[in-house]
Order: sequence, then structure tokens, then C-alpha cells
Amino acid sequence: MVKNGEQRVGSKGAGLFKGLGITLSTMTKRSITEQYPDVQPELPPRSRGVIALLEENCTSCMLCARECPDWCIYIDSHKEVIPAAEEGGRERSQNVLDRFAIDFSLCMYCGICIDVCPFDALFWSPEFEYSEFDIRNMTHEKERLGQWMATVPPPPALDPAAAEPKELLGVRKKAEAATLPIEPASDS
Ligand code: SF4
Ligand code: SF4
Repeated sequence: MVKNGEQRVGSKGAGLFKGLGITLSTMTKRSITEQYPDVQPELPPRSRGVIALLEENCTSCMLCARECPDWCIYIDSHKEVIPAAEEGGRERSQNVLDRFAIDFSLCMYCGICIDVCPFDALFWSPEFEYSEFDIRNMTHEKERLGQWMATVPPPPALDPAAAEPKELLGVRKKAEAATLPIEPASDS
């Protein structure tokens, strides 16, 4: 028992000295002042600045709005019937997005909405200069969320050793099959 207690005191002492060492080394370093807004900060490309919406991909499934812990995503949609493509076929119905808005005065930038979207309709943009004097303007409607798409960085390059993504593999196989020479029919 005494031995365990001594070990605990020893480890606490080591932690204290380690902490003091870090404090001293930081104190002796020159402080650097970022000259923002005169000089733009160099942010990592995947910084969480604002959320962009790719409206074409959104199916109004409401998953992001339901999972958002702050309830700051507002979606309105209606259903439209699409006539059958062929005679005798079945009509289909699809959701049409009327409103998609995010209130960035409530958003805590957790990224859950982006992670749960099954249709790749939401993306992080590193843009962060959208503060407002009126808090109501912090709610970005779908048009403004769509404009942020232009600032979304491209995805990182694939690992050259990684397997070909199945979506690309399927497209490539179809393209190769379409360009194959047609074999002449046999006479028999
Ligand atoms: S980042 Fe988080 S808090 Fe913000 S809208 Fe998405 S789910 Fe909601
Ligand atoms: S952004 Fe994604 S999760 Fe949200 S409603 Fe549209 S498709 Fe569904």
C-alpha cells in the first residue's frame, strides 16, 4: 500500500515538473501576433468555416435536420408526381426542396449534419468572414448556402495504392464494354 502511494506521489511530481517545463519553454518564446484582418490567416484547407449546400444532391430526407443537436437546420419541401416514363408504367413521386436554411448563430460546427447526409449534399468550406451586426442575417438560406460551394476545397487525392473506388470501377467497365469491337455473327 505504502509503495503504491509513493509511486503515485512520484508520478504526480514528474507531471508537475513536466508542466512547469512546458510553461517555461513557452514563456521564453517570442509571441507572434496574427495581423488579421490586414493579413489573412493561413488556415488548414479542411477548416470548419461555413457549411455549403449542393442543392442538386439534396433529397429533403431531413436526416441532417433530425440529427442536428442544435435544431438549427430548417427544411421545407413538397412532393411532386413525375409521370411514368413509358405508357403503362408507374408514376413516381419526388421531394422538391422549398427551403433549406442553417442558423449559424446557433450552429456549434460539430459537423454531424455533414457526416450523416447520405447524398453528399453538405460540405465544409474554410470561409469564416460572414459575421453580421443583425443576428437574423446569420441564417443562411439555400441560395447563400449554395454560393459557399465555390469555396469548398477539392477532396484530398486518393492514396495511389488504394483500390479503385467501386463507382469509378463500374463506370470504367461500362465504358470499356461500349468501346469493344462487335464480333461478327457466325454463318452457322
Ligand atoms: S454543424 Fe452541427 S450544429 Fe451546425 S448545423 Fe450541422 S449538425 Fe447542426
Ligand atoms: S442535406 Fe442531406 S441529410 Fe439533409 S435533407 Fe438534404 S439529403 Fe437529407
